[in-house]
Amino acid sequence: AKRDGKSHIGLYDPVEGDLSSVRLNFQHAVERALAANEFVLHFQPIVDMQDGRIVGAEALVRWLDPERGMVPPAEFIPLAEATGRIGAIGQWVFHHACRNAARWLRQGHDLHVAVNLSAVQFASANLAVRLREEMLSANLAPSRVVIEVTETAVMQDVERSLGVLNALHALGIGMAIDDFGTGYSSLAYLRRLPAQTIKIDQSFVRDVDTDSEDLAIVRAIVALARALGRKTVAEGIENAQQWKLLQAIGVDYGQGYWLGRPVPEDELRALLGSNQGR
Ligand code: C2E
Ligand code: CA
Ligand code: CA
Ligand code: CA
Repeated sequence: AKRDGKSHIGLYDPVEGDLSSVRLNFQHAVERALAANEFVLHFQPIVDMQDGRIVGAEALVRWLDPERGMVPPAEFIPLAEATGRIGAIGQWVFHHACRNAARWLRQGHDLHVAVNLSAVQFASANLAVRLREEMLSANLAPSRVVIEVTETAVMQDVERSLGVLNALHALGIGMAIDDFGTGYSSLAYLRRLPAQTIKIDQSFVRDVDTDSEDLAIVRAIVALARALGRKTVAEGIENAQQWKLLQAIGVDYGQGYWLGRPVPEDELRALLGSNQGR
């Protein structure tokens, strides 16, 4: 239970006692954080590998906790999934991602917004209905939205996932397979997923310029994507060597600190204002 009566969360505080009370505290903390508007979205540019221009932005959530400061998603998304709170956070994320994207488009910028969905979210049958309502009320065309899902998430319940993902596809929403190559999945399912894009996980990109096996893996993913008519995004590009190499291999889009870190919305708009590419 809370000891100080304030908004202290104490997620992993051993004094808090058993796991169930930690979970309960966390659930309350999320409700409070939503009510107090403590979540923020940062946006990371996704750029065209040919000319370096920004073609999209991935929404990445952060928790601005008054006491702990900026909490990264790795520290609360897994717990939010385990406690059933990811639905509320995910709804908040989608709402704000759509509103921001609609604003960029109104201001004349031509790009899409990419939003991460966890398995728990797309296990819900009425997800397509709710996302459709959000896009309608934001006045945002579904073609401007790409949802990112991991193979592992899809594999938790393949038939059900395919049903929901196909319903989203039917709305005109784009889909990318996130962290490709790290999950367990069969290539047969890749063929059945309505995904236009494959995101090559940053673990393969990190040493692509020095490790010949990583290079071979990236080449193989690009060849596979091409053969299946899908686009590729390389994640985690941190230097010019990686950029040049991935460009030469024929990766379509890139993302990474070297191209642009995740930034608050006003900083992203500043980048869009001078979106000349490289
Ligand atoms: P992800 O979807 O794979 O997102 C990419 C992560 O890599 C982000 O971490 C991003 O900041 C980081 N990154 C980008 N470029 C580089 C680079 O050049 N080098 C390195 N080392 N890292 C880079 P972040 O923002 O901490 O997010 C971590 C994960 O949390 C995400 O991985 C995603 O799985 C999850 N996540 C973030 N926002 C959401 C959300 O709104 N909903 C859900 N369900 N999950 C989210
Ligand atoms: Ca992602
Ligand atoms: Ca990823
Ligand atoms: Ca990841």
